[in-house]
Amino acid sequence: MEKLVYRFQEGSKDMSILLGGKGANLAEMTNLGLPVPSGFTITTEACRQFYQTGKKLSDDLLKELEKEIAALEVQMGKNFGDVKNPLLVSVRSGSVFSMPGMMDTILNLGLNNKTVVALAEATQNERFAYDSYRRFIQMFSDVVMHVPREKFEKKLEQIKAKNNYKIDADIPASDLKKLVQQYKEIYQTETQSDFPEEPKQQLLLAVEAVFSSWDNARAKVYRQLNDIPDHLGTAVNIQSMVFGNMGDTSGTGVAFTRNPSTGEAKLFGEFLMNAQGEDVVAGIRTPESIDKLRNIMPHVYDEFVKITSLLENHYLDMQDIEFTVETGKLFILQTRNGKRTAQASIKIAVDLVEEKLITKKQAMRRVSAKQIEQILHPTFDVQGLKQANLITSGLPASPGAASGKVYFHADDVVAAKKRGETCILARLETSPEDIEGMVSSAGILTSRGGMTSHAAVVARGMGLCCIAGCSTLTIDEKKKEISYGDIVIKEGDYISLDGGTGKVYLGEIPYDHNSMGDSFKEFMSWTDEFSKLEVRANADTPKDVQTAIHFGVTGIGLCRTEHMFFNENRIFAVRQMILAESIDERQKALDQLLLMQKEDFIQLFTITAGKPVNIRLLDPPLHEFLPKTEDEINKLAEDLSISTFYLKQRLHELSEVNPMLGHRGCRLGITYPEIYNMQAKAIIESAIVIQKSGIEVAPEIMIPFIGSQKEYNYVKDNIAKTIEDILQQENIQIGYQIGTMIEIPRACLTADEIAKEAEFFSFGTNDLTQMTYGFSRDDSEKFSWDYIEKGIMKNDPFQTLDFDGVGELISIACKKGRVVKPALKIGVCGEVGGDPASIRFFHELGLSYVSCSPYRVPVAKLVAAQVAIDEPFKK
Ligand code: ADP
Ligand code: MG
Ligand code: MG
Repeated sequence: MEKLVYRFQEGSKDMSILLGGKGANLAEMTNLGLPVPSGFTITTEACRQFYQTGKKLSDDLLKELEKEIAALEVQMGKNFGDVKNPLLVSVRSGSVFSMPGMMDTILNLGLNNKTVVALAEATQNERFAYDSYRRFIQMFSDVVMHVPREKFEKKLEQIKAKNNYKIDADIPASDLKKLVQQYKEIYQTETQSDFPEEPKQQLLLAVEAVFSSWDNARAKVYRQLNDIPDHLGTAVNIQSMVFGNMGDTSGTGVAFTRNPSTGEAKLFGEFLMNAQGEDVVAGIRTPESIDKLRNIMPHVYDEFVKITSLLENHYLDMQDIEFTVETGKLFILQTRNGKRTAQASIKIAVDLVEEKLITKKQAMRRVSAKQIEQILHPTFDVQGLKQANLITSGLPASPGAASGKVYFHADDVVAAKKRGETCILARLETSPEDIEGMVSSAGILTSRGGMTSHAAVVARGMGLCCIAGCSTLTIDEKKKEISYGDIVIKEGDYISLDGGTGKVYLGEIPYDHNSMGDSFKEFMSWTDEFSKLEVRANADTPKDVQTAIHFGVTGIGLCRTEHMFFNENRIFAVRQMILAESIDERQKALDQLLLMQKEDFIQLFTITAGKPVNIRLLDPPLHEFLPKTEDEINKLAEDLSISTFYLKQRLHELSEVNPMLGHRGCRLGITYPEIYNMQAKAIIESAIVIQKSGIEVAPEIMIPFIGSQKEYNYVKDNIAKTIEDILQQENIQIGYQIGTMIEIPRACLTADEIAKEAEFFSFGTNDLTQMTYGFSRDDSEKFSWDYIEKGIMKNDPFQTLDFDGVGELISIACKKGRVVKPALKIGVCGEVGGDPASIRFFHELGLSYVSCSPYRVPVAKLVAAQVAIDEPFKK
């Protein structure tokens, strides 16, 4: 028979699959000799059995529980339900991956009408005993019977208001007794049954409830969002209680060994005196900073600091630690790897390497692609911020900037997001029920709660901007408005949040793509030590190229020359070229364009200084460069001194029913060889200028839209001749290459033939997907979501490679190409070049590089390193 219950002494941190994260770490800390209240863990296996047997606790489990309870009673010298010396426990859920606030915990279990008296007598503290009791009734009712918390909180607020008690701790024993009575009445009305008095019955009901909560809606949503499998199940920890609400020398708190927002290597946390666990995280009172504990209880503070660094050194990562002080004695109740912002993640990983606690290889796993994405998120535009209308500020709980329409309920945010709005969720405080609304919002604002409140923790985990505890604002969820003095902000009005400073602004503020810290640069530089796949960027303008180089690309994977043509000052020459009535006229226009293109390439080669630059020859159909509106057509006819009639005739001739499959790419180079010749000439003449100035240069000339070897050879021979003539004339050597974009299925299937003359391949996955799937890349968004929702497609194939179809073609092309040229340089320059799952595929195929947009480069670099280490990011 499998063991279903483990005492803390029997477990270890490596047993989290069985004991859940919380249980495994309680065991580890117990065995490290830390002051952890005694207890035991019911395994996740017991939870799985619970579901297999129709949500019933098995006899085996009941037997083991009986035995462990008895053992705990002996160890503590207290008994369940004892009227002199009652044992009280907490029942704490704990799944394998931490799911903050998702599963439920019950404290003070074991209290009833008799034991509460015993507790009062034993501690000589009646107030404390009844305070614990009323908390227990509320938690038990909530977790086990799903009686809404508000029902109880309303009574609490009433008593406080009536007697002018400012904080919970002001409520005297007499009133707490009344509350207990009222709470029990609520229980009775809501559940049509008496509150269970018998502790063992309370315990079994609680265990069942924790198991059941694994399957509640919000836990399911959280798992889905975080890719946590549904079958894992949760463990349950039963732990003897320690009390932070015993008076002025008691308290409870949460601390991170490093700042979870910035990563700063300094203890960061909060505590509340005379309070019980939940109070800090629930954000009901605004807690004190951990530094203050030093003044209040220096010994406890010193011991706590020692333990925090011991735990960090033991786990080799930033820890999130829960503690309670009971009449001057410190207890540790939980430790886990702390959730953190993307910024903090990177800083902590880099610092830990520098402190020689972890290796660079390990550091690569500590940051996720998602976090790198978050770090590249926009901040507010400096100018915009200067003019912005500051209202007030709260706690900077999670950095980032968010500007959007304010909503007060999770459902409203979800609906607004569907309408395409950018939303801010404003609440008194958030709770796990709000999770879907939080996911759908750009930022979160609460008026209550501290840096470790639910809103703050969840927002940091999701990389969402959050301002918590903004108590100067009155947030009225019912009326759906925020007020601050005379200012009233209604649902749907724009507000802006700066999660880095905690400032709240009226109205909308424009964004700016902004800087990252020093650690970011350091961290990114390490990726190159591991990755096999190089990362290049798709960049056409000097600014984009500069950004790409700043992010550490090894080259430019795709420079689209037509983007240079669309430039305001050039489009006229381009149109002249297209509309020329004779070769002579066309040549004149081309000569002009040649000068312009040379300017571009010289700039490009100067910035890239020897890094390979893949330049794609003209790709789009020519009519894309021509005017569309009547006014524009008239104007162009005038400027070119041609008749409108003639112009319209040419436009008609050039227009196509299906331009995506039309006269474009190398087909242009076949019809108008002079265009590609001009481009080749511009590239090589610029390269000569650069090389002569002492800077290295490595152009790759890419012929687009190739479907057959003959096509390729025709175009290639043509431009190669142009180039060789120039080089001969100048009597100089340039290390250039000519190759092709593989983006037509036929090219994949005949890649061996094409490879004979091509010096490189670059997969254009956008067109290749379009032609392989037959999905228009510009229109398929309209229906691809239906496909995903109905389970027909897993992803949009333009975002994540369609491995089975397009991927198979790519793999065929690689094999065929390499049979002919084993060292053939092969890259990817489509959208999916920056997608993590696709990068893994390309790595496994052994490609040379992926190329993506400049702001995607850091993500691609990290993923390339992670797949090479073959240790993808772990939660
Ligand atoms: P969560 O996973 O939501 O943090 P926990 O199980 O950690 O839930 O418990 C909630 C709160 O109750 C925490 O602040 C924790 O420190 C406190 N707590 C849990 N067990 C005990 C105990 N045995 N004695 C005192 N406080 C406890
Ligand atoms: Mg906890
Ligand atoms: Mg293409």
